[in-house]
Amino acid sequence: MSDCIFCKIANKEIPSQMVYEDDLVIAFKDIAPQADIHILVVPRKHLVNLSDMEEGDKELIGHIHYVASKIAREIGIAESGFRIVSNHNTDAGQVVFHLHFHILGGNSLGKFW
Ligand code: 5GP
Ligand code: ZN
Repeated sequence: MSDCIFCKIANKEIPSQMVYEDDLVIAFKDIAPQADIHILVVPRKHLVNLSDMEEGDKELIGHIHYVASKIAREIGIAESGFRIVSNHNTDAGQVVFHLHFHILGGNSLGKFW
């Protein structure tokens, strides 16, 4: 998607603080962190959100969660705790319409529901 900000970050057309990348996903620091640690894990494939997912994407979504847990271990928040969030459409406040998963941690997050 030529006008998608996360596609541009994946293609290195827009700079980011990248913390992980492989053939399927990238992970970079959120520009407006909502916790001490706030990283976005993003598939290179442009999916709008989880509703855009097809059966063939099951492995990709599993890989995203594997990468998120690997990053959490490596940066040292697996023991203290972290939260994975994916906002889906308007009621959830999704503003970037390229599927992404927030990793939030590094401080106590409290419950939000
Ligand atoms: P959403 O509300 O769609 O779930 O989250 C989008 C996230 O993307 C927000 O937390 C926002 O701060 C982050 N974001 C938007 N534009 C950029 C950008 O250009 N660079 C980075 N690193 N994060 C961005
Ligand atoms: Zn995109």
